[in-house]
Amino acid sequence: MSPVLAELIDALGADAVLTDPDLIQGYRWDWARDPDAGMPIAVARPRTTGEVQSILRWAHRHGIAVVPRGAGSGLSGGSSAVTGGIVLSLDRMRAIEIDTASRVAVVEPGALNAEVKAAARQHGLWYPPDPSSFEICSIGGNIATNAGGLCCVKYGVTTDYVLGLHVVLADGTLLELGGNRLKDVAGLSLLKLFVGSEGTLGVVTRAVLRLIPAQQLPSTMVALFPDVLSAAQAVVAISSRVRPAMLELMDAASINAVEDHLSMGLDRSAGALLLAQSDLGGAGASAEIAEVERICVQAGASECFRTDDPAEGEAFAVARRAAFPAIEKRGSLLLEDVGVAVPRLPDLLAGIVEIAERHRLEIPTVAHAGDGNTHPIVVYDAADEDSCRRANAAFAEIMRLAISLDGTITGEHGVGRLKRDFLPEQLGSDVMDVSRRIKAALDPLGILNPGAVL
Ligand SMILES: Cc1cc2nc3c(=O)[nH]c(=O)nc-3n(C[C@H](O)[C@H](O)[C@H](O)COP(=O)(O)OP(=O)(O)OC[C@H]3O[C@@H](n4cnc5c(N)ncnc54)[C@H](O)[C@@H]3O)c2cc1C
Repeated sequence: MSPVLAELIDALGADAVLTDPDLIQGYRWDWARDPDAGMPIAVARPRTTGEVQSILRWAHRHGIAVVPRGAGSGLSGGSSAVTGGIVLSLDRMRAIEIDTASRVAVVEPGALNAEVKAAARQHGLWYPPDPSSFEICSIGGNIATNAGGLCCVKYGVTTDYVLGLHVVLADGTLLELGGNRLKDVAGLSLLKLFVGSEGTLGVVTRAVLRLIPAQQLPSTMVALFPDVLSAAQAVVAISSRVRPAMLELMDAASINAVEDHLSMGLDRSAGALLLAQSDLGGAGASAEIAEVERICVQAGASECFRTDDPAEGEAFAVARRAAFPAIEKRGSLLLEDVGVAVPRLPDLLAGIVEIAERHRLEIPTVAHAGDGNTHPIVVYDAADEDSCRRANAAFAEIMRLAISLDGTITGEHGVGRLKRDFLPEQLGSDVMDVSRRIKAALDPLGILNPGAVL
């Protein structure tokens, strides 16, 4: 073993540093399975903020790359390992405390989103951000990607709930930002700079998260449409008049993929499906969902189904959340996350259909439609060179389509490594330049998550 690695093991203890190549394998990729992921020299698994500081001081001293890692459910290669570097896994730091007086959760980064929700629920409180992966993703990863989810259309995304952070910088300095105060505008908003920074600016070791009173029981509507465009037009009309707590879209290919996977009785002949929920409770929820249904019928829905039974409503949400694992069974995937302002949603979806047809590819699409955030998923055959070429071309064209519609290449998954080359096309040279200067100021040696984002 190299003396440099021995120094790290001396500082942390052997149980906190994995060097066995077989064990390291499990920390090399996120869900995007980036083919260019490297082979790290070790995985460090600290238990405290102090240990995270020791790791970064060591890495800074020796110029070693550090890839922070939560639960590895990312979809953009953000936590792909780097050859010669280390993976800094936060999976052993997962304490959760609920402060009911301040209505906050004080959370270590490795705690899963679902664990924070469950802890809050015990006190009649709710942590809203709900990525479909909420059972398998960590709060640290959610903060680092500014994760969204299904109820974000009404309740906002992760950053809207982050009140405080402890962040360890590349040289081991600990920053304590914000706290349990609901309002605080002292100084530059450094707290928000770290939210969504994808492990490139610092390592989150503690978060103070705002909680709100538990959600009322939902009323749910499912509307079937003959095609994806009429569903998208319904979304535009709904968004301008109503504020549902969920507004999700599945196209025909994703409905069929989920049906193959789960056999839930979804209508395979539908061209698209909209799933809407109201959490106003009681008569208010029924009235809101009735209004959504009226708009869907006007936009051409062929069938609508309404229920006030939370279990039935949840079954539809499960179908929507199962889309990625279901589509994954159809081949290799390139996962998109493009978004536009809601009125441009029909243009974006029409463009995706055109790209799929032109490249002779299946591109099932699900969407957090009420946010204008879509997930076209390019399915291809990794063993077929021509299929790979067409898939890569479609992946690039979908991002360029979003940019041409004044949209974004990523609404919630982050840039990671897979979308890095496209970021300048969206942001332009001035914004890229300022972003790189901020990165250089905080991480002059460039050891934090090199190759991601910038
Ligand atoms: C089936 C499925 C459904 C999904 N649905 C959604 C969805 O609806 N909405 C959504 O937003 N995402 C979704 N995702 C993507 C993913 O779950 C999120 O991006 C999530 O926030 C990643 O969390 P993680 O703990 O797995 O992070 P990782 O994948 O481990 O890391 C993600 C990024 O965060 C950085 N990072 C992790 N922890 C820290 C830390 N403590 N400090 C600094 N940087 C850190 C990493 O370096 C990397 O850049 C889905 C993924 C899957 C597999």
